[in-house]
Amino acid sequence: MTSVATLIASIPSSVASEQTCSPALAAGPWTFDQAPGYGPGASLGDVLPTGSPRQGSLPEEYRNETNERLHERIRAAKATLGDRVVILGHFYQRDEIVEHADFLGDSFQLANAALTRPDAETIVFCGVHFMAETADILARDDQRVVLPNLAAGCSMADMADIDSVTECWEELASIYGTEPDADGRVPVIPVTYMNSSAALKAFCGAHGGIVCTSSNAETVLEWAFERGQRVLFFPDQHLGRNTAKAMGVPLELMPMWNPRKALGGHDEQTLLDARVLLWHGFCSVHKRFTVDQIDRARLEHPGVRVIVHPECPMPVVDAADEYGSTDYIRKAVAAADEPTTFAIGTEINMVNRLAAEFPQHTIFCLDPVICPCSTMYRIHPGYLAWVLEELVAGNTVNRIEVDDRVAVDARVALERMLAAKPKAD
Ligand code: SF4
Repeated sequence: MTSVATLIASIPSSVASEQTCSPALAAGPWTFDQAPGYGPGASLGDVLPTGSPRQGSLPEEYRNETNERLHERIRAAKATLGDRVVILGHFYQRDEIVEHADFLGDSFQLANAALTRPDAETIVFCGVHFMAETADILARDDQRVVLPNLAAGCSMADMADIDSVTECWEELASIYGTEPDADGRVPVIPVTYMNSSAALKAFCGAHGGIVCTSSNAETVLEWAFERGQRVLFFPDQHLGRNTAKAMGVPLELMPMWNPRKALGGHDEQTLLDARVLLWHGFCSVHKRFTVDQIDRARLEHPGVRVIVHPECPMPVVDAADEYGSTDYIRKAVAAADEPTTFAIGTEINMVNRLAAEFPQHTIFCLDPVICPCSTMYRIHPGYLAWVLEELVAGNTVNRIEVDDRVAVDARVALERMLAAKPKAD
């Protein structure tokens, strides 16, 4: 199997701008550590909040090391640390990282997987910042969570910050008041996608709200509608819209809240009529998928089965045969008995890995341009070798620690999510 990183490195520079979303992807991520941005790729145009963590210079010995030597060093450090460390790898990570992971999964699966390794003093989370925060919230007090590259944020998670959401909440309270209706339902319930900061999860915990994943968003919305007249859903407008639409909520009752405009850009009546208020956020990777790509896939591969992630825009989800979380996509491919052609609308590393794992099927990414999640791509074997060797030397670098007061409320919202079981469970 050729990894995405190897593929990108092999593209001649003369055609790199046609075949990848950024020719700069071929460079080591340390080239961008000092620059205030998400790095090359799909998120390059998104604005990085000023307070975002920056990764200092990766020591030269790791920047100059060959990939082969980095892998040897990672294996040696891991062997020395033994059960004292557990390495978690998100589905969207490079293969060069995944090969060292003890667990592979989505963010919530991984946070839970860490709990099965009680001897691990350190959880090295090869994912992005909000995932490491969630792992820290769920971990035992004596466990530390490390993110190998602090610049591995998530542009979608950064689109909703605690100040803007608090301001929105106050504006909504000025219109809705705070009193429940005759059925005991409060005016609005906050729901945050797992892809959000710990501060927003805590906000939900403290305001009668809840967290959702892309696997359980419908169950969570049902939970919220039982308790509230409306939902304020952040940060991903697409997951919110696709889920609520599938539940029968009319699009005109789902206004989008623009935090840069007074009352989110709406009049009072629109907000009073709303069932779901959608935050103005999106995933830079999943918004690249288009209906044209689906049309082309159907033309070129008659009978193709198109599955997309619910972070894709609504027209794309509507045009696909199926949509679902990374876990859903994986299970759908694994469950296909007959050789099948799949066109998948999610991150390229995961799609290529599925193609290698299930050679009986033809599996390809809907987007013909190679464009990994630019922040996931910031985790390179050089950083993994560095954090592990520092642990061997008795130093914890790049620790992600959620303040106790924030963690308490965030845990409430996560526990509500766990208690809100899907109907089919
Ligand atoms: S794929 Fe999208 S939502 Fe996931 S980490 Fe990357 S930018 Fe964030």
